[in-house]
Amino acid sequence: MTSIRADLDSLPAYVPGRTIPGAIKLASNEVSLPPSRAVLEAIAEAAAGGNRYPDLAVTGLTGRLAETLGVAPERIAVGCGSVSLCQQLVQATCREPSDEVVFAWRSFEAYPIVTQIGGATAVTVGLDDGFRHDLDAMAAAVTPRTRLVFVCSPNNPTGTAVTGDELERFLAAVGPEVVVALDEAYHEYVTDPHVVDGLTLLDRHPNLVVLRTFSKAYRLAALRVGYAVGAVEVITALRKVCSPFSVSSVAQAGAIAALADADNLLASCAEVVEERVRVRDALVGAGFVVPPTQANFVWLALGERAGEFAAHCLDHKVVVRPFPADGVRVTVASRAENDTFLAAALAFSATG
Ligand code: PMP
Repeated sequence: MTSIRADLDSLPAYVPGRTIPGAIKLASNEVSLPPSRAVLEAIAEAAAGGNRYPDLAVTGLTGRLAETLGVAPERIAVGCGSVSLCQQLVQATCREPSDEVVFAWRSFEAYPIVTQIGGATAVTVGLDDGFRHDLDAMAAAVTPRTRLVFVCSPNNPTGTAVTGDELERFLAAVGPEVVVALDEAYHEYVTDPHVVDGLTLLDRHPNLVVLRTFSKAYRLAALRVGYAVGAVEVITALRKVCSPFSVSSVAQAGAIAALADADNLLASCAEVVEERVRVRDALVGAGFVVPPTQANFVWLALGERAGEFAAHCLDHKVVVRPFPADGVRVTVASRAENDTFLAAALAFSATG
């Protein structure tokens, strides 16, 4: 018997999308294309200095983000992927087991994990009938013990997003003391003008913190770079609880180069947006329940048939992401990859 925490036995495992040789991977909301040549060169150059520790304060990348986003560098914390920033948020807000973290369910699977690791209590609020955050119910779930709320928009895995009006009403109901993290990992794919851009609310809501990542639209999932934007008080705390040197030199250099290439990267997001309309229309036309999505993936609300559908896709050499007894999330990728997936999906509905 060691001093290892007994409660870790019940910690759910983070289930990554599987990579299967010879199969198309549509399981992790990545971009299929590799980083650009300029980004690869920057990475290689940084790797050549791999004997030295990285810049602890991530000065260069923070400065470039500050210019790009139009906020002061003191209001940005860079982390080892935005999943690390989720964990840092729990560490920066929760200290007692009675401290509560509120989030919608189903949502990003890291939220319950980082909450439990932080020793806090998760309070989950079901999505509404349209697979959207029920922000009124979430506001009602906030108590004097609530320390942190995660709002995922667009929501992983359902693709639905919250509007500015909904979030404003939520923030007003919750008040200024509880930290509200708006997780915008898929922000670059949002096209609905009603969907909120969290950065526009930050000046009026110092308890709001916006999370973004280089893993999706910026094609750097392997490098592990995410960032938080918020009030100086929150950002200073996030920096304090960060493991030293957790953003490598290679990651910092790659992210700076990707930012310089933003126009190209965002242009390919527009192609994904076109494809997601086509993919969703085809699925809905075949009788699947697929909520409108603002992300680079679609959610098939298959309930008990989720596992069966994923196994069927695998037989057709397509890896998707099943959530048992709930649904299946499928990344929208290139036209050819989407066609392969659609052929598999349509064959399933025909046999259903
Ligand atoms: N938030 C959401 C909603 C996500 O879907 C993901 C990645 N799956 C992340 C955060 C984490 O991204 P990363 O750690 O790669 O920056």
